[in-house]
Amino acid sequence: MELVKESIRNLKEYVPNNLDYKIKLDANEGKNILFKDIYKEGIKFGEDFNINFYPDNETTLLREEIGKYINVNSANIIAGNGSSEMIELIIKTFVDKDEVILSFTPTFSMYSIFSKIYSTKFIGLKSNKDFSVNIELLINKAKEVNPKVIILCNPNNPTGYLIDKDHIKTLLENTDSIVVVDEAYIEFAGDSMVNEIGNYKNLIVLRTLSKALGLAAVRLGYMVSNEKIINIINKVRSPYNLNALTQYVGITALKNKDKIMCYVEEVKKERESLYSKLKEIGIEVFKSYGNFVFFKCEIINLKYRLAEYGILIRDFSEDLKGYFRVTVGSEYENREFIKCLKEIKENAKS
Ligand SMILES: *Cc1c(COP(=O)(O)O)cnc(C)c1O
Repeated sequence: MELVKESIRNLKEYVPNNLDYKIKLDANEGKNILFKDIYKEGIKFGEDFNINFYPDNETTLLREEIGKYINVNSANIIAGNGSSEMIELIIKTFVDKDEVILSFTPTFSMYSIFSKIYSTKFIGLKSNKDFSVNIELLINKAKEVNPKVIILCNPNNPTGYLIDKDHIKTLLENTDSIVVVDEAYIEFAGDSMVNEIGNYKNLIVLRTLSKALGLAAVRLGYMVSNEKIINIINKVRSPYNLNALTQYVGITALKNKDKIMCYVEEVKKERESLYSKLKEIGIEVFKSYGNFVFFKCEIINLKYRLAEYGILIRDFSEDLKGYFRVTVGSEYENREFIKCLKEIKENAKS
């Protein structure tokens, strides 16, 4: 008897890199700009919370702090263990077996992984050759396949492409499906959709502290939507889903908006410089609005060649042969990456 349910028998799991490294540019993690301070100040156990009691199920103080950070009422927010938990919650709430989730490809692999786990049908509409996307095509496809949920990653991981806010509004005006906008990297791009949640009955925006706030280890993400949707999803959310330590770190970290925005500006500057340098050494590179850059390179085994220098990047060759994503690092890290890539490229020629 096969005990494992059919939908996950052929599931390809999410596999993080486990190579040794000196410079880690494979997972779009931010720099540790905040936690050092939080650590120095210390967590006042007992004063701030009782560790023997279950954490605040409503994550009240944290949602208030998130609300201030994005200028939204805390009643419009649910927090959890990364936006990954939020994606799962949305699928659990809205999509039944065999119903459709529509998105573009290439995009964040967790959408199709969760989609499989819950026996739903993931349809990825192909991006254009330059990885831009066509919203009109998506609207027409939605009319044809009737998705329960449409997911847009904006800016898109791994390509860096940013969909114009007006195009997202056009989509919202032309579909009754739940439209999820995953804004994991929006701090590096600009205009968020969070202030639009009151204008639509079907908009959910996902955000995370893993990227611009550099708190990937803490596991903290959130969703923003109208109260009707928030109340429905809260019924599905597991009680005490977010532990007290993470709530505490989140509250403290979000008070540092100036510091965060300062870091974001640094990354944007480095991103443009990395883009130009890749272009200069003859690499096909795509304009990015995230904290990473997507590029094409024919060198065989580039990921492993760079790993020999202690540099990690992300390889997408399994689905997109010859395409890679590199996280924007510090000035030094980017310089090292370019130097090694150039060397590998020149050796490959001779
Ligand atoms: C990194 C990333 C996330 C964040 O996931 P967390 O679970 O919050 O760490 C979400 N969506 C996309 C597209 C990402 O790249």
